[in-house]
Amino acid sequence: MNLARRIERYLPQPLLELVKDISGQAAKRGERVYLVGGVVRDLLLGDPSLRSGLRFDLDLVVEGDAVKLAQQVAETSQAKLLAHHRFGTAKLRYENFTLDLATARKETYARPGALPTVAPGTLKDDLFRRDFSINAMAISLAASDYGELIDPHHGKSDLKHGLIRILHPKSFTDDATRILRAVRYEQRLGFELETQTAQLLKRDTPMLDTISGDRIRHELELILREGQPELVIKRLAELGVLPRISPFLKGDGWITEKFGRVRRLKKPNQLPSLYFCLLIYSFSERGLEQFIARLNTPAKLSQAMRDTLHLKTRLPLLDKPSLKPSEIYYLLREYEPVAVQTNALASDSSVIQHHLQLFLTKLRYVKTSLDGEELKKLGIPAGPEMGKVLQTLHKAKLDGEVSTKADERRLALSFRPDYKGRGGRRPQSHSKNAPPR
Ligand code: ATP
Repeated sequence: MNLARRIERYLPQPLLELVKDISGQAAKRGERVYLVGGVVRDLLLGDPSLRSGLRFDLDLVVEGDAVKLAQQVAETSQAKLLAHHRFGTAKLRYENFTLDLATARKETYARPGALPTVAPGTLKDDLFRRDFSINAMAISLAASDYGELIDPHHGKSDLKHGLIRILHPKSFTDDATRILRAVRYEQRLGFELETQTAQLLKRDTPMLDTISGDRIRHELELILREGQPELVIKRLAELGVLPRISPFLKGDGWITEKFGRVRRLKKPNQLPSLYFCLLIYSFSERGLEQFIARLNTPAKLSQAMRDTLHLKTRLPLLDKPSLKPSEIYYLLREYEPVAVQTNALASDSSVIQHHLQLFLTKLRYVKTSLDGEELKKLGIPAGPEMGKVLQTLHKAKLDGEVSTKADERRLALSFRPDYKGRGGRRPQSHSKNAPPR
């Protein structure tokens, strides 16, 4: 099968010219270049994300020396080069695209879950080390057979029949991250696990224990970047994979409903952390610490998850309609916003939801107009007294007792040591409102 016309139709013209040029330079060196990986699969599927130009990263395999070829290409173009001599790979970064060039290689696994031992090989070797038949196809970029599909594992047929198939029975034991990848592609594409693949996946699920926390977390992050990650989570639960990562993880209707609501918030940057915080919402503190240790989660995400559970225990305090804005603020100010958002999504009480949203959208941004310098000019001595004044001003602003700078100045002046009171008394100190933790 020749895919030349499809390539021309789906890939942006400047990118095409670039890969043809690279292939031409390779030919002069007696080498061949192939397009590989997800892009071949998506080209065959006619995936619209290719056409809209959302996808600018391409994987190329070089039968030859990928690093030397990339160096040569970088010398004659605007590309930034990042070479990994040890792995025989190089990245060429252009303004709008990234090309990953890899020397065709053979891989062997010394033991399950270990990183593979790598040796130069042919394109066939390189395709054989891949995860699934639908990801193990290549397209030739050489002038002599430009666009020719190379499909030794019948990926095209599996695409047609909607099947996820591993390439050999040891695939999941070699690299158990493929268990998570299999389910991710299955759900993304609406496919099925091929019968033997499904059997081996279930048999080899315990091999996930051989995978480092960072690699498991990376695969979970990829799942959480899918359009509907809840489908993957639910299926992982059905297959008995989730408990292997943590016995407390669930893929039930609650997760499905809350994940859907997260997306409706339209906060794409926060999506993965919100999903993580929802995933651990039913955990005990101990379960969470085990999860954090297993996945080696980065400090900020760990904090967001811990805050989520801590705040969950304090939600009853927020279930009072009469709470003042300042009281809400002091209850919530120390928590990661993602933890507050997660609790807003998780809570069934409209009062709690309202208070959490008020904090997120308004209260956390409230600032006094006067700062320490201005207070000094008004005669407030620096030190603890000034801290108290600033806190009083902030609280009054939160509660709508002051709104303009003049209001704040009046309130601040009442704290001056020589304040006599103009027919009134000094406002009460608000230092009672200590932070929650
Ligand atoms: P997408 O980005 O759409 O999920 P992709 O196929 O481009 O798909 P990558 O994770 O970028 O996904 O991987 C590129 C290719 O590398 C895959 O198509 C597959 O051939 C191979 N690959 C990635 N991870 C593994 C793995 N754990 N085992 C074997 N091959 C893998």
